Amino acid sequence: MADFLLEYGHKPGWKSIFNVLGITVPPRLERLKGSWKKQILAGKKVVTATGGINASVISNINDELGGHALINSLPADDRADVLLFDATGIETVAQLKLLYDFFHANAGKLANNSRVVIIALTPDPSPEGRGERTASQQAIEGFSRSVAKEVGRKGATVNLVRVENKSVTENQLLPVLHFLFSEASAFVTAQVFRINSGGNVPQLVSLEKSLAGKVALVTGAARGIGEATARKLAAEGATVIVLDRPEDSDAGKKVAESINGKFLTADMSKEDSATIINDYLKKEFNGVDIVIHNAGITRDKTIAKMDEKYWDMVLNVNLQALIRTNNLLLKSGTIRKNGRIVCLSSISGFSGNFGQTNYSATKAGIIGYVKALSEELADKNITANAVAPGFIETKMTAKMPLFTKMGGRRLSNLNQGGLAEDVADAITFLSSPGAAVISGQTLRVCGGSYIGA
Ligand code: NAP
Repeated sequence: MADFLLEYGHKPGWKSIFNVLGITVPPRLERLKGSWKKQILAGKKVVTATGGINASVISNINDELGGHALINSLPADDRADVLLFDATGIETVAQLKLLYDFFHANAGKLANNSRVVIIALTPDPSPEGRGERTASQQAIEGFSRSVAKEVGRKGATVNLVRVENKSVTENQLLPVLHFLFSEASAFVTAQVFRINSGGNVPQLVSLEKSLAGKVALVTGAARGIGEATARKLAAEGATVIVLDRPEDSDAGKKVAESINGKFLTADMSKEDSATIINDYLKKEFNGVDIVIHNAGITRDKTIAKMDEKYWDMVLNVNLQALIRTNNLLLKSGTIRKNGRIVCLSSISGFSGNFGQTNYSATKAGIIGYVKALSEELADKNITANAVAPGFIETKMTAKMPLFTKMGGRRLSNLNQGGLAEDVADAITFLSSPGAAVISGQTLRVCGGSYIGA
């Protein structure tokens, strides 16, 4: 069932009824249509506050993305499309006042669907880094998540980018800022992106058509998030192998044909699926660059009532199958140097869910798995990350009881559920060459669905 508030809330008659009733209408999010564009800042007003990073790094990125002159303050009646705050120079509690000053002056001037990015340091675990400096840098996380809640009703997003030191390069920062300033991050808010200084980005790469010449495999791609991901990867130039169960051959073949890709049938719950995939990739493409482990299932019951077979089934498809497949692909050298692995986790992997002990265990397992795998693969420049969707409007969530579904939508800062395309955009970003600086991380695509006192 469609989101009633979103569907009717923007129609003239209905809008005033909702206003009188005091019901907040969710904003209409501007999403990426078609493929990535480079000049995303053309015609936009970007307000910046400089900090510890060399100002020329920020200004070169702005030029690369087609921006005009950067502004430090706006007239009272003007609107900002992007706020970029460099907080890397903050070392004391007193200096946190710089955040107050900048956001007190500018948060009220954000345009609809605007973007806020704060750049901060990864809190330093070394003895001399402890104490006030670490506290001050950590404080920025709570601050940015709170601003995200305050501006979400405008469709604005707020994200934090952590760098290891102030000498971060424009090559390392550009792809991340490109993603965060763009319409592709419409449902990504209140997140932390950690840039690993070891990540190899040899030149300034934007995201536009950056997957040309790459081979990508997407499991469970006949529908839902997998299908949207296959389409997005293909739009950026990748040759995509759409994998799904034999029962979904018709739908899977249709998706593959429409994107000039290939269809491969395998049931990930079966032990031989890893061999089927590995043999196919070796024979047809002599390897693979991007592997998206998307196939996933739910079999919900409270733990006291859960059949053993439902426990086994979910653990097998959602977790065991992807580990088994990666082990073989990596052992056989099928995943090429500079490869990308993205696994589908879920916000229930962070928070747990009633009736989902099996599902949440697998989705939490994935968060730990990519962290460990990223370290193993660092010397091959292969990254391993996860994406954790929140409430996304797909067949999987359509099956939920009505009130759970309505509640799931309103939990996000953006007051609505996400779309499969939102998750696919994040996966496409993590699959790109520029995302070499991000590994071992789990990116929530949840509209900022965090609650806490
Ligand atoms: P979906 O609409 O149910 O699609 C999943 C696809 O995976 C289907 O085509 C399904 O085929 C396929 N699949 C299932 N078992 C398989 C197997 N053993 N071998 C091969 N393919 C198999 O799900 P979705 O909502 O797009 O979710 C995709 C991923 O995102 C899942 O891992 C899910 O856990 C995760 N996720 C989704 C949400 C959400 O809100 N939708 C939230 C958090 C996480 P059949 O149709 O034959 O089953």
